[in-house]
Amino acid sequence: MCCNENIKERIAGSVQQSSLDLSEISGMKFFDPHVHMTSRTTDDYQAMADAGVVALIEPAFWLGQPRTGVDSFTDYYSSLIGWERFRSSQFGIKHYCTIGLNSREANNEKLAEQVMEILPHFIFKEGVVGIGEIGFDDQTPAEEKYFRLQLELAKEAGLPVQIHTPHRDKKNGTTRSMDIALEQGLDPYSIIIDHNNEETVKEVLDRGFWAAFTIYPFTKMGNERMVEIVKQYGSERIMINSAADWGISDPLAVPKSAALMKRSGISLADIELVTYRNAITAFAQSGQIDEKDFEQLQPVDQAQKFASNSILRGGQQPRIDKNSIIIS
Ligand SMILES: [Zn+2]
Repeated sequence: MCCNENIKERIAGSVQQSSLDLSEISGMKFFDPHVHMTSRTTDDYQAMADAGVVALIEPAFWLGQPRTGVDSFTDYYSSLIGWERFRSSQFGIKHYCTIGLNSREANNEKLAEQVMEILPHFIFKEGVVGIGEIGFDDQTPAEEKYFRLQLELAKEAGLPVQIHTPHRDKKNGTTRSMDIALEQGLDPYSIIIDHNNEETVKEVLDRGFWAAFTIYPFTKMGNERMVEIVKQYGSERIMINSAADWGISDPLAVPKSAALMKRSGISLADIELVTYRNAITAFAQSGQIDEKDFEQLQPVDQAQKFASNSILRGGQQPRIDKNSIIIS
């Protein structure tokens, strides 16, 4: 009984969500500063481009199951600065990434040591806008050790840091993450604290950090809660992301939230800050973001290839769109 009710509620929720009219935000540009495109489809890329997402950041994370060797990390980081960036470009979306050892896999210390050795080979590559996502999962001593080492690396490299806060014991984990960052001598203005909620936002903003919010369907922050947060705290140092990955998540979370905010009477200036401008300001501290790259609609040529691979499959015709008004 309870479960049927639950399903009904969920279906009602999804109908409500799909009725959100994205034409309300047509012409607006969005920057999704946390989305794991490696686990998404080309349909998602197309839908994001259609909804106005012009640029995104893909943080390095785990893959749903533990890696067994350092070569898997090498290949994954290489794909974030290579194939995935190319794939994104095929939909006219500028792709950036952050590179780091995620908290879960920091607990395999033997492997973590090897990953620390390869990180410097990746963090200075084109399109890498920070160290991330790093921080705590279970808040173990090993997680703390590699969190501190990577904060040190970020400080030396002069890169922003994208911090994943734990889902369990979030409030303490968030406070502790900020304490450690300050202990390591980092400037809070270079640090984006992610996955905030109503319990953590005030402290994060009061201490001078950036506060990022992940909009997840059915869990954590829904975008109605997000609207209330922007009403209460304003738009300074706040940003919204989808954190879409291989789980139930929504790669259109940023434009949908913008539409909901607009409908809720939040000013266009504030919407622009939390769905676009603040992410650029925070991550441009890397020196890697040139807004000119996505200010205007990027020409798309899907006949292009990356290492002799294209996104086209047998017999498909490439979508070549050089900003032409003629659709053929
Ligand atoms: Zn993530």
